[in-house]
Amino acid sequence: MTKRQQHAQDRSSTWPSTAADLLSLRRLEEELGIYKAIIASSDDAIVSKTLDGIITSWNHAAENLFGYTAQEAVGQPITLIIPAELHLEEKDIIGKLRQGMRIQHYETVRLRKDGTRVEVSLSISPVKDRAGKIIGAAKIARDITERKRVLAQEQFLSEVSRMLASSLDYQETLANVACLVVPQLADWYVVDLVDASGHFELTELAHKDPEQVRWARTMRERYPIDPNAPAGAARVARTRQAELYTEIPDELLQARARNEEELALLRQIGYSSAMLVPLVARGKTVGVISFVATESGKRYDERDLVLAEEVGRRVGIALDNARLYREVQQSRDQLDIILQGVADGILVYAPDSRIIYANEAAARMTDSASIQQVQATPQSGLVSRYELIDEQGRPFPRSQLTHLRVLAGEREAQAIIGYTKVGSGQPESWSLVKSCPVLGENGKVAMVITIVHDITERMRVERRKDEFISMMSHELKTPVTSLKGFTNILQRRLTKQGDAQGLHYLSRMDAQLDKLTRLISELLDTSRMQLGKLALRTEPVDLDGLIDETVENVQATSSTHRLLIEGRTGVQVVGDQERLGQVFINLFTNAIKYSPGAEKVLVRLLRDGEQAIVSVQDFGIGIDKAYHEKIFERFYQVSNPEEKTYPGLGIGLYISHEIVARHQGRMWVESSKGKGATFFVALPCLRSNEKAQTISREKEECLHAEYS
Ligand code: ADP
Repeated sequence: MTKRQQHAQDRSSTWPSTAADLLSLRRLEEELGIYKAIIASSDDAIVSKTLDGIITSWNHAAENLFGYTAQEAVGQPITLIIPAELHLEEKDIIGKLRQGMRIQHYETVRLRKDGTRVEVSLSISPVKDRAGKIIGAAKIARDITERKRVLAQEQFLSEVSRMLASSLDYQETLANVACLVVPQLADWYVVDLVDASGHFELTELAHKDPEQVRWARTMRERYPIDPNAPAGAARVARTRQAELYTEIPDELLQARARNEEELALLRQIGYSSAMLVPLVARGKTVGVISFVATESGKRYDERDLVLAEEVGRRVGIALDNARLYREVQQSRDQLDIILQGVADGILVYAPDSRIIYANEAAARMTDSASIQQVQATPQSGLVSRYELIDEQGRPFPRSQLTHLRVLAGEREAQAIIGYTKVGSGQPESWSLVKSCPVLGENGKVAMVITIVHDITERMRVERRKDEFISMMSHELKTPVTSLKGFTNILQRRLTKQGDAQGLHYLSRMDAQLDKLTRLISELLDTSRMQLGKLALRTEPVDLDGLIDETVENVQATSSTHRLLIEGRTGVQVVGDQERLGQVFINLFTNAIKYSPGAEKVLVRLLRDGEQAIVSVQDFGIGIDKAYHEKIFERFYQVSNPEEKTYPGLGIGLYISHEIVARHQGRMWVESSKGKGATFFVALPCLRSNEKAQTISREKEECLHAEYS
């Protein structure tokens, strides 16, 4: 292309020559106008410059941000607004622009006309001419001072919270926060706690110079806070309203000082600004925090006060937590002292059966060297040295340990356990173990508390008593049997002689002898049961027939009550006919005995699925719910001072209950005081296909029976 041709082409691309060109020129001018308006009204400072760094445009927002007018700025080097130490940074930016790179959200600092600094976020793009050559840069600057301040505040507060959470010792808590506040927020940080009587106690005083801290403390001792002062910490504590002193002119110090010496000291501090905020915990003012600016020359404003109040709020909560923790710790220590002194062993189990607490007695009882050893030993290990037995001397299944039963859902569990050294046979010790759950907020078992009460001595005495009863009953049996024999002989002789009166006395004597025989055999039964020696002769028993026979026998002895049978079970049960008969005699005679004003006793028979149920209902004095379980214990009698006493030993129900349990059955009572009582006996039915097998097993049992 020749020079002329080139010139013509250039002209045609720059100058409108046709009507169409003119139209597009107008459109361009319109667009330019729109851009200019946008730039002028933008809240962000928009500045353009050449690649040599000379400012070429400066919008209204730039005037506001940097303090220079467009007239003052345009034509000046951009370094006008760049702090000297950042000039190199500008070179770096220009270098990137020359390569056509854009710079996005670059955070830096710029200078205002008044010399103050402003934090900005810059976005810079290269400006190209029509040929695509980079000729300068357009820069958008956004003031991020506020954003940075908010961010810094958030960070500060989260640091404060972290510090507050790091300790539950309140002195330490306050000292930790002091390290953050000084020097970030204040030159001095003072915490005064106030007690219920309004008395202030200087609790924390921080400054970067320890010498100054010492000086300030002695000054405070000389001039403590006057609780009645009309302003300052005293008022903040009284009104719970924070105080902000953006500036502290000398007049303020003069008004506050109590005398010349205090004024001189206050002046010596060199106050610049101060904030006093209340420390509030659970709605009560517990102190005041003072943030004081001195040598930093800081001037606090409302926004700083909001931050200071937030610090006060968080410190207040932390102090309250620390106080609560201290109180909980104190009561825990006291409780521990008490529990450690208790003679019973106390063990606390976690839901996974781990021991989380044990007292000294528990350590002693489990032969452990220390409480720590108890806690470190898995539960199975604690009792593995022993064979466990129950009251009857049978092996005690470990799955029945009371804490495991509670963990499995029982509301309370209790057991008497004997501990036998493996292989030794005789129990070394006995304990009554009780467990109950502590429920968590979710209603689930959070822990199980187990109390182990040493009953070795009691069991030894009981054993001796059982042995004595057993021996004595045996000894009594012989003379009573011969007495029975002699009454028979005597009866025959008196009958021959026709001595009616003699026979009358003899029959009364014979009845008393029968009573004595029953009593002796009942006593024998209890001791047999206790020693685990009660044997059963089992055979299929026709339950309905047994009831008919027993009712008939008891009816013969009663002229006051009628025993009425309702229903039929129609089944056989496996059992010891004599022993089961003993159970029903007991229930019938009790029903008569405890319903002196009534005329009948109802005996109901029914079959309920796999079990036969016999119920005995009377219309007598009834039994309060509180005793429904107790009456099945050995020697237990309900004693009520208002009621007449009934003769007896309190062993009939115990024996009956044991016999039914030995038949895999259940026995219980339904009653309330004054409304009669109904006793129930449930026994498993004998299934026809079981018969043969059961009988042969029973025969075997018979051979081993120690029944005497
Ligand atoms: P006892 O020889 O005292 O009758 P038991 O073991 O048979 O001994 O009964 C225990 C206690 O249960 C009795 O002392 C009595 O207080 C109460 N009791 C038993 N049966 C009845 C009943 N049918 N009505 C009211 N109380 C009863």
